[in-house]
Amino acid sequence: MEDGGGGGDDISVDMQSLSVTGEGAEKKEEEQGIELDEEDVEEGVEDFSLSLVGRFLTDKVINFNAMKQTMAALWRPFMGVSIREVDGGLYIFQFFHEVDVNRVLEMSPVTFNNNLLILARMNGFTHPGDVPLFHFDIWVKVRSLCLVYDRRLAEKIGNEISHFIAADPNNRTWSKYMRVRVRLDVRNPLKKEIQLRKKQGEWFRPTLEYEKLPSFCYICGYLDHTERFCRSWLLTPGEVPQRQFEPELRASGHRNNLSIGARWLRDPLNLEGSSPGGIHSSDTASNSDNGRDT
Ligand SMILES: [Zn+2]
Repeated sequence: MEDGGGGGDDISVDMQSLSVTGEGAEKKEEEQGIELDEEDVEEGVEDFSLSLVGRFLTDKVINFNAMKQTMAALWRPFMGVSIREVDGGLYIFQFFHEVDVNRVLEMSPVTFNNNLLILARMNGFTHPGDVPLFHFDIWVKVRSLCLVYDRRLAEKIGNEISHFIAADPNNRTWSKYMRVRVRLDVRNPLKKEIQLRKKQGEWFRPTLEYEKLPSFCYICGYLDHTERFCRSWLLTPGEVPQRQFEPELRASGHRNNLSIGARWLRDPLNLEGSSPGGIHSSDTASNSDNGRDT
């Protein structure tokens, strides 16, 4: 509680003093304390209902100012965003409209310097440090010519990959792939393949391609380190550990990223003037999609 900002301290003190009201008085008064509900607590305290708490999946030091600029430029929230560091490596992203919060969550996964940002909603009661930060949502292309894509199948496949969140409403029967949004847990390795078969049919493995997939370890499939820092090196000293995962798990050229920055980018000749949104090269700086995992 003590690091929850000035307001949080006041509340915990108030609650304690309220609970001892009536000490030494009549017994019934002891039971007549004031019970605080959510509104009482939130009164006069900053509203965190539109806030996200987040951390980057890295043990590297994050340049806070650069990160703030990059994230704001990437999200471009209608009502702005306030970003602060509450604890080492823990950040609060305070938004001011529900639309902005949802849009940011829909843009997942996002990265800063190739480091995945894991976000979760705050409820105003839980200390940011106690909010579990292990999950993020990502679109997966499931390629197979053998499947008729419908939502029910998307759900089954999504749950087989990890945890189904949504099916792309644009999924069409006989298209080359189906898009499924899943929630991944960074405490698990990536799922590199799934197996399917029709009744009494042969097993087959559709290709999985994760869109905007951050750096991951080709040896063990975890997202919190890259090949060079894999602990597998300790298991086979003197030998190069074998890759179990392929870069092909990363979908190439996802459609949303190619021109999204176009209206914000300006010709070098015009850079001296003020930019339309005050932003340059935001997406290229923050998205690691095509980056090498070094
Ligand atoms: Zn590894």
